[in-house]
Amino acid sequence: MRVPLLDLKAQYATIRDEVREALDRVLESQQFIMGPEVPALEKALADYVGARHGIGMSSGTDALLAALMALGVGPGDRVTGVITRLNAVPVFTDIDPGSYNMSPTSLEKAWAALDRSVQQRVKAIVPVHLFGQCADMARILELATDVNVPVIEDAAQAIGTRYKDSRAAGTMGVMGCFSFFPSKNLGAIGDGGMVVTDDEVLAERLRLLRNHGAKPKYFHKIVGGNFRLDTIQAAVLLVKLRHLDIWHKARRENADRYRELFRQTGLVERGAVGLPQVTDPTPAIRSHIYNQFVIRSPKRDALRDFLTVHSVGTEIYYPVPFNLQECFADLGYRAGDFPESERAARETLALPIYPELTPEQQAYVVERIAAFHRGG
Ligand SMILES: *Cc1c(COP(=O)(O)O)cnc(C)c1O
Repeated sequence: MRVPLLDLKAQYATIRDEVREALDRVLESQQFIMGPEVPALEKALADYVGARHGIGMSSGTDALLAALMALGVGPGDRVTGVITRLNAVPVFTDIDPGSYNMSPTSLEKAWAALDRSVQQRVKAIVPVHLFGQCADMARILELATDVNVPVIEDAAQAIGTRYKDSRAAGTMGVMGCFSFFPSKNLGAIGDGGMVVTDDEVLAERLRLLRNHGAKPKYFHKIVGGNFRLDTIQAAVLLVKLRHLDIWHKARRENADRYRELFRQTGLVERGAVGLPQVTDPTPAIRSHIYNQFVIRSPKRDALRDFLTVHSVGTEIYYPVPFNLQECFADLGYRAGDFPESERAARETLALPIYPELTPEQQAYVVERIAAFHRGG
């Protein structure tokens, strides 16, 4: 049996006619830049998550970049939790080992370790809602409020997921950023992204920034870029948004099925050395859209090789933590600075979880993992 990590063809087969109709409409209109589907998607997506404004962007990365630019982040400024291209300096934090999200304790420590003059240059705190589950926003927002620094949420993997107080990912900070990269739960047919915000002033600045900072055309108020979302992507995303809750539900059912199958093997014991561990949603947060379903194994690399040989697609998100990335070598971080991030980079493995995955495929995946741990 073959089980790919993701099967976009299976999803496309279920929506082919609707997508083609949307594509045809855009082709007939020839309005490829900022056609009517762009504001329609912005409104639909803002409504879906419960934000006042949505501003379409060319990718999730550009959404984050534009959000930082909208806050005026520039050379020498500090941003905790994200890489930035604005000559600002990232300050990293460790993760919570259960959710893989920003550890509020580590954030507090990172803040306390900064000189007062550097603290004054922190322009944003950027928690990521990784794999489809919210970071512990209560404590992160509490610190951010105390020190008066805005929060930008990287909700690229968490569209439609909710925090325990039922606010949606992307609507708790001043801005939330989404990605429509094809492998996200809401994926385009190329690149796309969006920023959502309740703040009128930021929304207007983002609309300017994505269009070279010009309004009207050729009259440049601020220096921006070309961060526009294509009409054709918006048209396809409008179609897919109608199916998103059903796909989320299927992913959740698949996650429950994995947990039950792993339980039945008798192999998985929390914390037992040498056995795979299934990471459950953080009990206090719960809501999960399973952009990824991640397990840990102390023999992760050998397990992955074994699964590859048996035609099961897997991925390592992510093999190298930021503090050990070559491009950040001159920031002065060392191995051991973020033990949980580094351990996750060594142990975690994402399994196929896409909505169209069949129970038979899941049973095969778990049976192969069990076989590996029994020694073949
Ligand atoms: C996908 C992703 C991004 C980047 O989005 P692109 O659309 O690929 O630029 C940023 N952050 C996270 C957490 C992501 O998963």
